[in-house]
Amino acid sequence: MKGLMQEHELLISSVIRHAAENHGDREVVTRESDGRITRSCYAQVEQRARQLAAALVGLGIRPGDRVATLAMNSYRHLECYYGISGMGAVLHTVNPRLFAEQISYIINHGQSRALLLDPCFLPLVESIAPRLKKIEHLIVLTESTLMPPAGGRPMLCYEQLLDAAPGSYQWPSFDERSAASLCYTSGTTGQPKGVLYSHRSTLLHALVSLQADCFGLRSVDAVLPIVPMFHVHAWSMPYGCAMAGAKMVLPGNHVDAPSLVELIQSEQVTMALGVPTVWSMLVNHLRDSGQSLPSLQRAVVGGAALPPAIRDALEQCSGARVIHAWGMTETSPTGAVATTTANLEQLSADERRAELLKQGRPPWGVELKITNPEGEPLPSDGISSGQLWIRGPWIARGYFRRGRERVLDEDGWFPTGDVASRDAYGFIKISDRTKDVIKSGGEWISSIDIEHIATAHPQVRFAAAVAADHPKWGERPLLIVVRADGSALGAEELLEYMRPRMARWWLPDAVVFVSELPLTATGKVLKTSLRAAYRDYFLTAPGQPTGNR
Ligand code: AMP
Repeated sequence: MKGLMQEHELLISSVIRHAAENHGDREVVTRESDGRITRSCYAQVEQRARQLAAALVGLGIRPGDRVATLAMNSYRHLECYYGISGMGAVLHTVNPRLFAEQISYIINHGQSRALLLDPCFLPLVESIAPRLKKIEHLIVLTESTLMPPAGGRPMLCYEQLLDAAPGSYQWPSFDERSAASLCYTSGTTGQPKGVLYSHRSTLLHALVSLQADCFGLRSVDAVLPIVPMFHVHAWSMPYGCAMAGAKMVLPGNHVDAPSLVELIQSEQVTMALGVPTVWSMLVNHLRDSGQSLPSLQRAVVGGAALPPAIRDALEQCSGARVIHAWGMTETSPTGAVATTTANLEQLSADERRAELLKQGRPPWGVELKITNPEGEPLPSDGISSGQLWIRGPWIARGYFRRGRERVLDEDGWFPTGDVASRDAYGFIKISDRTKDVIKSGGEWISSIDIEHIATAHPQVRFAAAVAADHPKWGERPLLIVVRADGSALGAEELLEYMRPRMARWWLPDAVVFVSELPLTATGKVLKTSLRAAYRDYFLTAPGQPTGNR
């Protein structure tokens, strides 16, 4: 017997329609590339998104066609989110921080027919334009007076397109399982792979991100996604904020620490989201400039493990509750969030804080399991660690245009490639990417744990532990460190600090000081390049200690 409830497809257009009707005057604030602040609101975003949809229809874009964006966080990019998916086309967000070859590969592989770009990416697009065979329309996200002079490939002006489009366009209805957006993995090894989200997966995921035990979004919030809208939907904030009616604060390409701090203060931001390297940059700036962030209530940290030192610094300079979350491009991204539970409330404050540094528990909708190499489930004892698997309605089941490649196991589980343990409270702890684990004398050493202990030293700004080949132990940890400004910290001093805080055989065999660490296009430390550069360190560097075991 079927239920007697109304049938409505879960469509992305319904989110912006809701926001326009019920939170129409709630602001969407953008810092433009010239530093000006522009104030839009959900009513305007919805109106203009419908005009964009009408304009795209006029250009011949059909449902299912991919339409790419190469843009920072701004109200115009938000309009693209709703206009493109809302009309039934597929929003293909492209990460401009990738290499030019990767960008052209991603746009070509996604077969996008139009590309909307911020003016700051014009030189990049001009350099790859001859390779973008499928792109029929280049649309610059700007007004007519700021359009580049004609020459090269013809470009359309976004504001002129919108001005010419009818305002009467109505959102169509279609199957909620239709593709809504496409985002490629960062592809640190091999070619990037396309994750194709549906309207249904996007809305279910966004709904869950609103929950009090996830990010707890409310209409009174002012939310600053420092995480970019070009990668995994800025962790769903463009949808979640509109659902909740929260004010959005979008930094454009001003993502340096002073600009972000100023924006948080002037717009009274209550929640901000970023990767650890960005938060680290922010807290260092706050410390150096003696400023604080009194309005900030929640700081969401994800994309890489949260170092305790960053959590402590964030709490000190803002009073914000720090929420640690785990996820991947393939998981939309939210797969686990560390927020307190009734059981955790029974613990001492220190025990609870230690627990909340882990990656947390799955929200409703996703299931997690951890297995040994034979595929057998491991006990939730907080010690046994193995491959983490995930499944649920917003987890990928395959990649775009990869033929019959099989991604899931026979029970529908997606292999994350992360190594994790789970404890009696149900909290998972990620110890590494499978590829980053340091295998020393047949046992595994967690690079993340080593890094957290090193970064707790006040004179360490960033630290990365990588496996280097070792004649006796197979691999040994090598620590690569960026010192704090003005520090003359030495290797022995740092190792002495770390020695009592970790198992003897985990202690890195050597420390290398560098001026900066290579970062991925999403702001994470690029371990693959460090591993390649230092693979032979213990085989070639003279006078190295022979290991701490
Ligand atoms: P991406 O698909 O580029 O967003 O990267 C996903 C990967 O980032 C995951 O598989 C993890 O290895 C890593 N990651 C994301 N969040 C966390 C976290 N909170 N702690 C540790 N690693 C994380």
